[in-house]
Amino acid sequence: MPESFISLKNVSKHYSVDLDAGVSDINLTIDKGEFVAIVGESGSGKSTLLKLIFGTLAPTAGELTFNGAHIPGPHEKLLPGHDSMKMLSQDFNLNLYAKVYENIESMLSNENVQEKKQRSLDMMELLGIGALAEKRIVELSGGEQQRVALARAIITRPEVLLLDEPFSQLDAVLKTQFRADLKRLGNDLGITIIMVSHDPVDGLTLADKMFILKDGKLIESGDPASIYDKPSHIYTARLLGNAFSLPSEEAKTMGIKSKAANVMIYPEWIQLKSSWTSKKYEIEEIFFRGFYEDLLLERKGIRIHAINTKPGMYKKGQGVQVVIERYLEFD
Ligand code: ADP
Ligand code: MG
Repeated sequence: MPESFISLKNVSKHYSVDLDAGVSDINLTIDKGEFVAIVGESGSGKSTLLKLIFGTLAPTAGELTFNGAHIPGPHEKLLPGHDSMKMLSQDFNLNLYAKVYENIESMLSNENVQEKKQRSLDMMELLGIGALAEKRIVELSGGEQQRVALARAIITRPEVLLLDEPFSQLDAVLKTQFRADLKRLGNDLGITIIMVSHDPVDGLTLADKMFILKDGKLIESGDPASIYDKPSHIYTARLLGNAFSLPSEEAKTMGIKSKAANVMIYPEWIQLKSSWTSKKYEIEEIFFRGFYEDLLLERKGIRIHAINTKPGMYKKGQGVQVVIERYLEFD
């Protein structure tokens, strides 16, 4: 059997100050060229897992390999961090008073000055920052700085690019642009990208494979569409969508006959009808989202969400009939 590109076997990292924190017994593999997203709520161990893969954190148990070779930890190397990997840090790590091209060029050796210049220019073009070459970092916006940091990280052609919450400092428009950049880079340069995010949309839009972390454990993995469609855990559904769960007893009033303890429903699995029924839900709140509305519905203290794609159609306080088109069972 061929070696996996990246492989983690029974990897745990427990911090001595808090033995419960960290990650536990992680088993996973990552293929070359894959775009992987590590998703989980805050404190679930995402950054810990990323640092273990990079080698800036040593596991307390288990084994990590890259191309079949042991990944050296921080005490086994002079310069922590795997030579074939680059981590794009949140603080960008740029030389603020140097020019853009200087920040990028400085990553390359001086052996061939002409080639060095050309490669930097190519990289700036690729990331759409060619026009900024002569500007100092302090003169750039946050989004532009992030592109420079990205250019710096990949100019040396690392095999793996690690990203920890790369979108956290960007506004919505820049976020969309940066997502598109990353996707393109992964495809064009064939870099394996491992990205940590607390925003599941990042993972859903970009990743070939998602790893879902909960309390330091890897609870499920797979391609975004399959995981979203058939999550094995309610936690995953809540994380990825606006899912809610109901005791099956309550779901009976919506025509669901289930022997499981709970049923899980995404808002988009609910149909609304304004027809008369005694089992109506009341529209408690309407959240306008632009091209749709998120409706908060209530009946006898139970609250559920539904999506209305025709904004303005319903009024607060109105009664609606709820029809469940699909649901998943959980015990
Ligand atoms: P995430 O990135 O998903 O928010 P982290 O990997 O940063 O989670 O942290 C996972 C858990 O480990 C948290 O409970 C956090 O408090 C704890 N932790 C992280 N870094 C350290 C550290 N250096 N020392 C002690 N505990 C830590
Ligand atoms: Mg983190």
